Formats: sequence, C-alpha cells, structure tokens
Amino acid sequence: MNSILQTYKRKNISFQRGKGSYLYSTTGQKYLDFLAGIAVNSLGHCHPRVVKALKRQADKLWHVSNSYVIPEQEKLAKTLCDLSFAHNVAFVNSGAEAVETSIKIARKYFFEAGRPEKNRIITFTGAEHGRTLAAQFAGNNTEESIGFGPKVDGFDQVAFGDHEAFSKAINNKTAAIMVETIQGRGGIRTIPNECLKQLKKLCKDNDLLLILDEVQCGIGRTGRLFAFEHAGIEPDIVPVAKGLGNGFPIGACLVSKRVAACMGPNSHGSTFGGNPLAMAVGNAVLEVITGKGFLARVEEMGGYFEDGLRSIQKNYPHVVDEVRGKGLMRGIKMKVDNIKFCDILFDNKLLARQGGDNVVRLLPPLTVNKKEIDTALDIIGKACRNF
Ligand code: PMP
Repeated sequence: MNSILQTYKRKNISFQRGKGSYLYSTTGQKYLDFLAGIAVNSLGHCHPRVVKALKRQADKLWHVSNSYVIPEQEKLAKTLCDLSFAHNVAFVNSGAEAVETSIKIARKYFFEAGRPEKNRIITFTGAEHGRTLAAQFAGNNTEESIGFGPKVDGFDQVAFGDHEAFSKAINNKTAAIMVETIQGRGGIRTIPNECLKQLKKLCKDNDLLLILDEVQCGIGRTGRLFAFEHAGIEPDIVPVAKGLGNGFPIGACLVSKRVAACMGPNSHGSTFGGNPLAMAVGNAVLEVITGKGFLARVEEMGGYFEDGLRSIQKNYPHVVDEVRGKGLMRGIKMKVDNIKFCDILFDNKLLARQGGDNVVRLLPPLTVNKKEIDTALDIIGKACRNF
C-alpha cells in the first residue's frame, strides 16, 4: 500500500469477487454496490456476455497498431453513429482523454475554418472533466488545481445555472460550450431540458460548438443511451467512457459530420485507443444496452428508485433535502454530513459515494432489480434514523 502514490484516501477493504450488483470482500462480507466503480460497471460485475466476449477476443488478438484497420473498432464506431447524431468516433482509453480529444477538435474546427482566434471554451463551476492538465483546468478549478500551474489557458468558467453570466461570457474568442449534461461528481446536478435547448440555441446564434460531457451520465445511465436525448437536442461533440467498457478502460469522442471534417491523418492518435480487446468489450456492452427493452427497464427501475428516495425524503425531511437525477443516476442532497452518511451506508453494506454540494451519489448497475433497490432503500432509510 505504501508503495502506491498516496493520491487516494482509501477505505480499508478489498474486494475479491463481484457478481451482478454485489461485491464480495476478502474478509467474506457481501456489499450491495450502488456505486458501480463510479458509474462504470453498467452491466454489473462479471456480466456473462461481456466476460465471454473478452475471453473470446483474448484468445484471438489483443492489440494491433492503429496503422491497420481494426474491424471491431469500425463496428463499435458504426453502432455509436447509427444510434446518435455522430458521424465519426475517435477511440481513446479514459474519460479525461475523451474530453481532451473534444477540446482539441473544437479548437481545430475553428482553426481550419480560418478563425484560429476562436479557441476558448466556456465551462461550469463544479464540473468534472478529468485530471489530465487541460481537463483539470477546464473543470474543477478549486483547491484540487492548486500547485499544478501554470494554468492551462483557454477556459472561461461561469457559475452553474447562472444564465446571465453564461451569455456575458460569450465573446468573439469563444469556440465552444462544454458542460456535463448531468454533473456527476459536482453533485448530480441536472441541466433542465429547457436550459439545454437554450444552450443549443446560444451555440447556434453565436457560431459555437456544443460539447456535452457524457462520461458519467451517458451510455444508458439515465434510461436513454445519451442523457441529452431527454432534451431532444443534438450536440456537436460528446466524450463518453466509463459505462461503455463496463470496467475495461475505454474512452470515445463522438463527433458530428460538420465538425469531423476538420480532423485529418496525424491530427490525433492513441497507441491503445480502440484496440481489439477494448472494442470487443464495448461491442458486447452496447449489444446488451441496446437490446430489446433494456433502456425502458432502466427508466422503470430509475422511477422506482426515485419514488422510494422521495418517500424517504418525506419521512426524514431533517436529513434529506432533495432527490436528484434521472434514471439510475441518482443523488440525495443531505441536510446532514454526506460523508458521514456514506460511512453509515458502508457500515450497513451499501456502497455509495459523496459528491459535491453535500450530495450522496447512488449509481447502481443498470441491471439492478427491484429487490436490490428495496434493500438499498431500506439501508438508506435506516441510516436516516441515526440523525
Ligand atoms: N468527465 C466526467 C463527467 C467524469 O465524471 C469523469 C470521471 N469522474 C471524467 C470526465 C474523467 O474520466 P476518467 O477518470 O476516466 O479520466
């Protein structure tokens, strides 16, 4: 443990096995996993179809250079494009990389259009876009960024939900707006559909690109493949990651036809991005998520979970302030300390995690069932009685 760079405050527990919505510790304890690797294990632990796809590919071919055609990559890109606004997809290995790719593409788009001065991106406070340098300075500009200067320039941050500040921040140097459709780490803060439509209009009126970071809220988490679908709008660039790999590291940047044209050979690259092993997993995950009735079930379970959380809020108004989120991306804003609350959940064998704005994040696998939701609600309700 001490040989690891101490960048995490870890709980003193290890897991040796996972199945569906449950994790089993090395000490033989069973935990209900409503964190899912922070919205990663979208199909739960060791989903048989994904395990099979990974094993089958492992016996055939792991990695080849992107100098060659990778059929599994073409397949996954085509599926993502067929199911969205996108015309092209770039594959990388993580959420932060997918965000960095998005930033590069937005800048390049205006450069190629003969307007290189348009290179600044507006973001929201409380945002989480990743921990690489540009992604870090694009997002969470709090104490986490201290010591990593010089600041990566090119980002103008405005307060979440401050419409006036947003409009004021736009000038002739603005290239894009980049926001999470639903802020995850910031505290499950949803941009209302009406506001997303307004953002789209602002982009159109001011010749800006709309980048929607769906690294956490995308790939089925809200009951739609992409969270922006709820608003009926089409963004220009969308980074995704987490749930697409179900635990295998994958990132992808989805790009509209108009924007994709600015990126030619050598304008971007990744050694590992889109390798056959990752793509076999991604294809299997999407096959399950886009299977008949899967997303409708996520919506149904999300509604069931929300109803349960709302009745807890009603019963314990001095503990729970607000129920947030969509589908199976849920948060409860607490009137008590969120970290203490998560510790109580943990002591009662339910995994959850704190977010910004004093929120407890609840991100179960998308395969969760009513019985497991009932168990979680029971533990959350009991935890409220401690206050
Ligand atoms: N964007 C969002 C919305 C995220 O939630 C995260 C991860 N928390 C990232 C980007 C960065 O992803 P990764 O940790 O895979 O680099």
